[in-house]
Amino acid sequence: MNGAPARPELVLATRNPHKLHEVREILAGWEVLPLPDDVELPPEDGETFAENAAGKARAAHAATGKPVIADDSGIEAAALEGRPGVRSARYAGPDASDQDNLDKLLDEVAEHEDRRVAYVCAIVHVAADGAETVREARCTGILAERPRGDGGFGYDPAFLPDDFPDGRTMAELRPAEKHSISHRGRAVRAIAESIREEGPR
Ligand code: IMP
Repeated sequence: MNGAPARPELVLATRNPHKLHEVREILAGWEVLPLPDDVELPPEDGETFAENAAGKARAAHAATGKPVIADDSGIEAAALEGRPGVRSARYAGPDASDQDNLDKLLDEVAEHEDRRVAYVCAIVHVAADGAETVREARCTGILAERPRGDGGFGYDPAFLPDDFPDGRTMAELRPAEKHSISHRGRAVRAIAESIREEGPR
């Protein structure tokens, strides 16, 4: 035994390697464990981000018995009454790539004056004893006409964040800059604060 304090452990209930990478960067100092390969996550067919995140977090908690967090996230376009929203990952079809989804959003928004968009992220924490906490956060911006940059993932090359009004897209920000303002950075930090306040359960 050495005297180093144990790092708090959390399983991240996702199959998205970009999310695991980002949450590990945001929660430096925590042991963010990947979801074991044999755990099946439920389909994301809820009507809200929080509902979908809760389904994933509960399934992972039931299978592992460990404290778990799950995120559900997406992008809402003001001109499209909030679409694609909870359907962001499959906007252009069930097997759509990030590029297909982005192209579809750019085509649809091109017909409107209003190019405002917002990223939304709901995070659900299920403690080892089953207690649940939810936090939701947003990051607002404007949809660029042409994608630029190769950082981040998903819709990032066309997302001009209001919090960095220097013309860079989310895919042109450094990772720490993205996390300081992103929907996921804000929601993950809020959930970490609530876990610290509640103490280990
Ligand atoms: P889900 O949370 O697994 O349903 O997937 C959310 C989808 O929203 C992703 O596949 C991306 O298309 C999009 N999305 C969520 N967060 C981000 C982000 O930080 N950058 C870019 N796209 C995102």
